Parts: sequence; structure tokens; C-alpha cells
Amino acid sequence: MGQEKHRKTTTSRAVVLEEATLFEVSRPGARGAALPPLDVPSCELPSDSSRSKSGRKVLPRLPELSEPEVVRHFTRLSTWNYAIDLGLYPLGSCTMKYNPRVNEAIARDPRVGDAHPQDPLQWSQGHLQIMHELKQDLKDITGLADVSLMPAAGAQGEFTGLRLMAQYHAQKGRHRSKIITADSAHGTNPASATLAGFEIVQVQTGPHGYIEVEDVRRVLNDDVAGLMVTNPNTLGIFEKNIKEIAEILHEKDALLYIDGANLNAVMGITRPGDYGADVIQFNLHKTFSTPHGGGGPGSGPIAVSERLAPFLPLPDVAVRPDGSYELKSHDPNGVRLPRVKAFYGNFGMFIRAWVYIRALGSDGLRAVSENAILNANYLKSQLEGCLNLPVEGDHLHEIVFNDRNQRELGLDTSLMAKRLIDYGFHPPTVHFPLCVKNAIMVEPTETEPIAEMDRFIGAVREIVSEPGNNDSVPRHVPRARVDETRAARQLKLNHFAE
Ligand SMILES: *Cc1c(COP(=O)(O)O)cnc(C)c1O
Repeated sequence: MGQEKHRKTTTSRAVVLEEATLFEVSRPGARGAALPPLDVPSCELPSDSSRSKSGRKVLPRLPELSEPEVVRHFTRLSTWNYAIDLGLYPLGSCTMKYNPRVNEAIARDPRVGDAHPQDPLQWSQGHLQIMHELKQDLKDITGLADVSLMPAAGAQGEFTGLRLMAQYHAQKGRHRSKIITADSAHGTNPASATLAGFEIVQVQTGPHGYIEVEDVRRVLNDDVAGLMVTNPNTLGIFEKNIKEIAEILHEKDALLYIDGANLNAVMGITRPGDYGADVIQFNLHKTFSTPHGGGGPGSGPIAVSERLAPFLPLPDVAVRPDGSYELKSHDPNGVRLPRVKAFYGNFGMFIRAWVYIRALGSDGLRAVSENAILNANYLKSQLEGCLNLPVEGDHLHEIVFNDRNQRELGLDTSLMAKRLIDYGFHPPTVHFPLCVKNAIMVEPTETEPIAEMDRFIGAVREIVSEPGNNDSVPRHVPRARVDETRAARQLKLNHFAE
């Protein structure tokens, strides 16, 4: 792979492993546990005919193995994961940053982690205080009026925010059916809007990488409930017209939804509430550092303007006159959204976000954003020559390239992404955002040291300089190239299915 040319670094290079399924290595009669001899009379299992209709007709075909065989199988598989704790994870839009261990230490403290949502209120005062303080922090960071911690992920935050917008219009005695989105939108935006009962009207990203006011004005009418846009957007560019867009929306009593997944680029620098946002979701697991990407729990609180605050779902934490905390669940006017999650949301993520914010302080949060921007722009400056930059602009925390410079050499986005695996990197986000053909979206995040970014830059430069060397990649992995189309179209979820 020619990496020897580079400065020596500590890193894992590709490992070749092979692992049979437990079914393939099953040995009939093998056991994981030795049971004592039976000390009661044995009996035959009832015959098939005497069992109930729903009873099992044949014994389950479970693999039979010893305990060490099972432990080694799963332990070996666990080392096949790529993780942020192994190296740069440049997946754009996902903010795969290092998660400080202090978060985990506090989340695992039994006084915090062993709480149960049905514990009596007097036992839960500390937990309620954490929730209350986190809400306060999120209000300060966004400059908005109120917060609900309840949604379980970014997408559910979007859904809840959009339902709030529908409720706002319903309370004014009208039905508005349309949401304006940008062509740079994350897939969850149109999906959430559709699920919340809206139709989508799309505006194109302008030549400078952000929405033009005139394009919004053209589609804005009395049937528009609001506009939904990520800011900074998925090209990594700040929506420069956002204040004016908020104004023209508000003139029509339409609302502005900000997808806050990219908040790590603007914390302490600009606040959505100051430019007219009515609702924003936080992806606590991205911006505020909870390990994610493995399908674990996320958290997607929303912050809202005065317009939407009366409709936030309950229960919610509140302070009593004596300074103690309670859970407010009474809705005297009957205008609030029904709850969107069991209990109060994903408390484990609240803890990590609360610790993260406290450990950094407001100057630290601003430094997070500044460093995220600095790192992304370092990568941009180093890679601009070899990868094409389809949208020139003032990039913040992530950069979208594409494969235009490589295509005639037979190299494309997918091959480059797969080839990076051979160099020990998780591939960047590819083919998103959709407004860029064959996009390669890189987000280093603020936690990447320069040496690791240099290693990545070196790998990309080498890959593009040896186009002929990139067929049937990745090579140094247990499964080189799966047939993605077949995998998606012909799902085989049952090992025993013929
Ligand atoms: C990640 C992301 C979402 C969805 O958030 P989830 O927590 O994965 O549901 C929405 N919009 C953008 C721009 C994102 O990056």
C-alpha cells in the first residue's frame, strides 16, 4: 500500500480475518454448561399430537458449542468494528467525534445510572435538576424560549417540531398543508414532514451553496406551514439569507424549522433564536457527545420560540416555589401535543450532554465550533487540489467533494470510499447530500489531531494517484465487496430460509 513512505504513526492497518457462523461450526452434543445429574424422575416430552396447535413441532436448530468457542466467536467479531476510539471517522453530517470519558464515568455512577423513572419524586430531585439545567443550557445555546427533552432522536425531534407547527396553525383555526425544504436536506426532513401530514415543496440550493430569498418567496403562500432547513446546511455552509427568510415566513405567519444536527459548527457563535428560528432539534448524540453509530440510544430534544412553547408535550420538569423540582403533566387548555416517548426521554444521553456542557463551559463550546471549522478547512485546503469541490463557498465544519477529477481515470466515489477502508479509515459519507452528484462528504470534527488528519490526507492523495490500483477494493477485509443491490433487494434474515 506504499504507506511506508509516510511518517510512522500508531494505527491499525487492515487485518484479514475469517469467521464461520456458529451454525456452521456447531458440533452436535457440544455443551456450554455442565449440569448436575437429574435428581427427579425423568419424563418424556409430550408427543407432537398432544401439544397445543401453537406448540413447536420440531426442536429449534440451535448451534451446539462449548462456552469458550462461543466467547471467542463473539469476542473476535467485536474486534471487527471500526470505531471513533480506533481512528478518524470522517462520516459527514454524523459528527463522529471523540466522546470524553468523564461523560461515561458520571453516567455510570450508580447514584445517577441506577435511577428509575418511577422512583418517587423526592428520590429523583437530583435527576430532575439535571434535566432542568440541561433545558436551561439548551435555551441559552439557541436563544429560544423553551425546550422539550422528550424526543428520542433527531428524526423524532423533527417529527415533534413539525407536529408543533401543525398545532400552531390548528390553534389559529386553519390547516396549512405544505412544508418548504431545500434540496440539500437530510432524508429525515422530508420523511418527518410527510409523516407529520405535510406535503413537500422543494427549493434548490443557490449557486453559492445556500438558499436564495427569491426562491423562497416564489413558493411561499398561505398554504405553507413553514420552511425546514439545516443550518449550517449539509454542504457545511451557513444559510446567509436565513434572517431574511425568517422575516418573510413570519410575514405570512409561517414558521422556521432549523434542523440542528450541525450545531457543532455554530455553538457560541450564532443562535437560531436570534435569526428568527421557531424550532430546532438537537442531536445530543452528535453535538453533545454520546457514542453513536452503533444503533444505540440517541436523544433529540427540541427548543422552540414563544410561538410554539404553549404546545410542547408533557410531562415536563418544573421548579416549585420552594426550589424543589416536580413533573408538570396538567394541560389546562388541552392544546399540548401528546407525549412522544415513554417517561421523559433518554435520560442517559441527558447526563452525557449535561456533563459535556459543564466540562467545557461556554468558552469551551465556542472553541468546539471554532476547532470543528478549523479542522474541516484544513482538510479542504489539503485535498482541494486532488478532489473536486463542486460548491465553492465559506465552508464551516464539513466539506463536500465529488469524483469529477477522477471519473475519466476509472475511479469513482464508491471506489475511493471503499479503498479508504484498506488504509484503516471508515469511509466518508457518500452520495449525500443529493444536490451534489457523487458527493464525498468529510467531517473531521473538532476532536481530530492534525497527525491523524494528515494520515487521512496522505491516504486520499495516494488513492487518487494510483487509479488503476483500486479495482475490487477493499482487499484487506474479511468481506471484500458485498453485492449491495442484492443485499437490499433480497433480504435474507432467517438463516434457515431456503
Ligand atoms: C443525523 C441527522 C439527522 C437525523 O438525526 P437522528 O438522530 O439520526 O435521527 C437529521 N438531519 C441531519 C442533517 C443529520 O445529520
